[in-house]
Amino acid sequence: SRRDSPWTMPASFWQLATTSTRQGNSRSCLSRYNSAFYRKKMARSPSAHLIKRLREHEALQRRCGPGTEAYMAAAARLRSWHPNGTNHRDYTHVSCKYLVLVPYRGLGNNILAMASAFLYALLTDRVLLHDRTTSLGDIFCEPFQGASWLLPHHFPVKNLQNLTGNVQESYGHLVQRNDPAASVSVRRYVFVDLDHSCTYHDKLFFCDDHRRFLDRATWLLMRTDGYFVPALFLNPTYQEELDRLFPQKDAVFYLLAHYLFHPTNKVWGLITRFHDSYMRGSDERLGIQVRVFDGDTPFQHILDQILACTSREHLLPEVVTQEPPHPSTTSRARSKAVLMTGLSSWYYENIRWKYWQSATATGEAVSVYQPSHEEHQLSGYTTHDMKALAEMYLLSMTDKIVTSGWSTFGYVGHGLGGLTPWIMFRPENHTAPDPPCRRAKSMEPCMHGPPFYDCRAKQGADTGKLVPHVQHCEDMSWGLKLV
Ligand code: GDP
Repeated sequence: SRRDSPWTMPASFWQLATTSTRQGNSRSCLSRYNSAFYRKKMARSPSAHLIKRLREHEALQRRCGPGTEAYMAAAARLRSWHPNGTNHRDYTHVSCKYLVLVPYRGLGNNILAMASAFLYALLTDRVLLHDRTTSLGDIFCEPFQGASWLLPHHFPVKNLQNLTGNVQESYGHLVQRNDPAASVSVRRYVFVDLDHSCTYHDKLFFCDDHRRFLDRATWLLMRTDGYFVPALFLNPTYQEELDRLFPQKDAVFYLLAHYLFHPTNKVWGLITRFHDSYMRGSDERLGIQVRVFDGDTPFQHILDQILACTSREHLLPEVVTQEPPHPSTTSRARSKAVLMTGLSSWYYENIRWKYWQSATATGEAVSVYQPSHEEHQLSGYTTHDMKALAEMYLLSMTDKIVTSGWSTFGYVGHGLGGLTPWIMFRPENHTAPDPPCRRAKSMEPCMHGPPFYDCRAKQGADTGKLVPHVQHCEDMSWGLKLV
């Protein structure tokens, strides 16, 4: 039975972290209950304090989420708001505060943004809701039992995807006014723009003490496409609580992702059928995630880079030129399954041919698989996003993983798996870099657009040097990651 398989573990993190396991209908979201059977062990365990805070947060989402009186009151104030400044007293009567995340770009970006927004919501006691313009509802189960994390269709602020830092409600504008604290409460909402194009003033959000300023805003709307957790660790306001939540600093994404992201049954079917057919039976599994940012056509230098990396780091065996004498039929060769992902199938075809054409020097049997090759990014289309999620999840089920630098798809793959990746550096001038890849410092994703500001000293700083557990990323010299 499954319980006797090497994939067994006593209880999934989700079961540890929620009291309502038995209340839910286990068939409506199989991955929530069964994913633990597909993992050898938990790479990190949640602290008791994290579990306690998650339960409190679930209760908050139930008390204040869509469909509740609190939500209707908060939404009504948003709807009936007038720009004459007489509304602010109303806000004090709203009992719940909200964070609406507007995720955009690819699914990897979305997942990192959702995990970051959730941690911010947890730290500031805000209900987290997601703008549902993407395939979100089709690919993820609801994480909080008895409450939806999707923004209702009739949300009073329209066209959230078009909000930019230029709106009057933006945090960047508010902090530039003389009396920002007063102005928050008379705003309809506060918009936090964390896009790549955001300004120095927008990024002061990362130094904000929400208790003094943003606490007054019932509605916080946020646009981000990336992982901003490392910046929260630089804000003195959250330091103590983050220390209690995450005694191991490199466990943040891993634990949050396991708590939040449960593929729907359709995606879980894609994952388990592929895993059971091509990965489960092998002695070892290697993931290779290929993401090319210079176009969708195949590049020889990228193939060279993959081969150089896997050879130098002894992740794949060498091949021999001579046909070896046939091995005895009684001894079974050690098997290695290689799971490749990418938009193109060309890299996969080449590596598969390498190990079909020639025997390995070690005698290992190397089988190479790639679930799909979509050719082009089509984010937002349900079937396309389902495959993307299934593949990120399958990557997370490997034993070792090679990823492409700069790719949020890769960050999710290794982060969810609790795997410290070998990162292939992004090529410049169509040349494979030397060295082609390096083992990362931790399993955490990289924050691409970090602040360059020291919240304590109130001046510009190298934010990769302020605290020992926030350092620059291997694949992006200015990026930040937890280690
Ligand atoms: P990033 O652009 O690499 O940071 O990752 P994102 O996930 O944010 O955006 C890339 C998108 O392109 C994915 O979400 C998929 O829609 C698509 N894509 C890229 N690589 C792959 C892949 O290996 N497999 C599949 N199925 N889709 C991919």
